[in-house]
Amino acid sequence: MAHTELYDVLGVSRTASENEIKKAYRKLAKEFHPDKNPHAGDRFKEISFAYEILSDDRKRDMYDRYGLEALQGGGGGSTMGYDILSQLFNMCGGSQRGPRKGEDTIHPLRVTLDDLYNGKTTKLQLRRNVPCRTCNGKGSKSGMLLTCKGCNGRGYKVAHHQISPRMTQEFQMKCGDCNGEGQVINKKDRCPQCQGKKIIEELKVLQVEVEKGAHDGDRIVFHGEGDRQPGIEPGDVIIILQETGTHPTFRRSGNDLLMKYQIPLTEAVCGVNLVIKHLDGRNLFVKNPPGTVIQPDMVMEVPNEGMPIKRSFEKGDLLIQFIVDFPKSYFAPDPQIKLIESLLPPRPKTVIPKDAEDADLNEYTETQGSATSGGSGSGEAYDEDDGPGMRAGLQCAQQ
Ligand SMILES: [Zn+2]
Ligand SMILES: [Zn+2]
Repeated sequence: MAHTELYDVLGVSRTASENEIKKAYRKLAKEFHPDKNPHAGDRFKEISFAYEILSDDRKRDMYDRYGLEALQGGGGGSTMGYDILSQLFNMCGGSQRGPRKGEDTIHPLRVTLDDLYNGKTTKLQLRRNVPCRTCNGKGSKSGMLLTCKGCNGRGYKVAHHQISPRMTQEFQMKCGDCNGEGQVINKKDRCPQCQGKKIIEELKVLQVEVEKGAHDGDRIVFHGEGDRQPGIEPGDVIIILQETGTHPTFRRSGNDLLMKYQIPLTEAVCGVNLVIKHLDGRNLFVKNPPGTVIQPDMVMEVPNEGMPIKRSFEKGDLLIQFIVDFPKSYFAPDPQIKLIESLLPPRPKTVIPKDAEDADLNEYTETQGSATSGGSGSGEAYDEDDGPGMRAGLQCAQQ
């Protein structure tokens, strides 16, 4: 599982550079500074905390690998109280001290490459909180509320965190006695249905439409379908698409589809005929223009046979990288090899000096530690991620 909470707080990707993180922080810190925005105190703390971790290589690495828990446990000599972290994040959930909106429910939805190509409609059952119908969301039989003694009706308590011997950080914690509401209900007066909680859990079935051409990580938002609480705007349900599994033939790169295909030398030289079963079940019959030769590792494109592009009638391209299989030694008797040679481009003239010595040429078998393979010219271009759309490690579609 990838840890993203802190990146989400700053609105940057997990691969964001130091600079991007700094920029995002500055922008948000300005926007949510408590001096300007008295209701944004918690948000500001969250932002500052996320920045503190992500701007420090060591802490960022810890977080990337082990998540928030690692930071909470291994705080040691750090300057920020990681132990308050969980409280911080709980505080910022949005259900305390008069929030305007209920909590969002975030739910991953696993999809395959087939689903993303063809689109998909699926039903998702979620649990959500809604106001109790028995007490109309009041929580009590009589409707009477008492001021919470734990927090004097404020909904929060002030706690201190020792940063250094000279510095203490003051922060506000949700009052546990009243769950941050500042008011409590007399035990005997509690609604029997919700036990005074004002809300009950219900199951909700949502119909989720995955659009053709949707991407891994896309969000589908159901406004107002999340948690509901009396007196506040309901939260949203946010479905996040997660591409899972590896397709045996195709891999996606943006709007393009990539595949590797192995052909014998005969097809590379004399013309390739290949049938590809596409993600929607169509069979594509692909052939190269007569007379063209396919070089080893060459990438050819089939226009408009890539992924559908969302909300358009266009598609990306299908890129095929050809792996050329050469014939094995002694595949034909000598006279026929001569015949083949007569058809191939002429070999360069070699002048053999009179004093030249005969030397053997044997097949080299790689022994460990003396590798010379890897940089075989034309293949190199595709070893980098930003090559012309092809990546090393694509799966071969064997014939
Ligand atoms: Zn109730
Ligand atoms: Zn209280």
